[in-house]
Amino acid sequence: MALKITEECIACGACEPECPNEAIAAGDPIYLIDPDKCTECLGYYDDQQCQAVCPVACCPPDPDHPESKDDLLKKFHALHPGEEPKNVDTWKAPEA
Ligand code: SF4
Ligand code: SF4
Repeated sequence: MALKITEECIACGACEPECPNEAIAAGDPIYLIDPDKCTECLGYYDDQQCQAVCPVACCPPDPDHPESKDDLLKKFHALHPGEEPKNVDTWKAPEA
């Protein structure tokens, strides 16, 4: 399930450089997550980096984009051909 950014976003920009998939971009007025690029950080980190740095906790899972762990792994491989995912066993799904 991709994450989304809600209207509580204060557009601080802290999340954008932390995303391993370049899924986050500045919008107007709030930042946006591209659901086609968000792997919930599976393949790089144990938990979700945008949630970890966001000062206002406005990056919940997006129920409009349900995905299994296998779906997310497929997305990882599509985004990073030839690269091995690093944290499949220790990765934790985001809390709602
Ligand atoms: S959960 Fe990870 S991959 Fe998804 S937008 Fe946040 S930082 Fe990027
Ligand atoms: S870290 Fe949070 S408040 Fe800052 S731009 Fe990202 S989503 Fe918005």
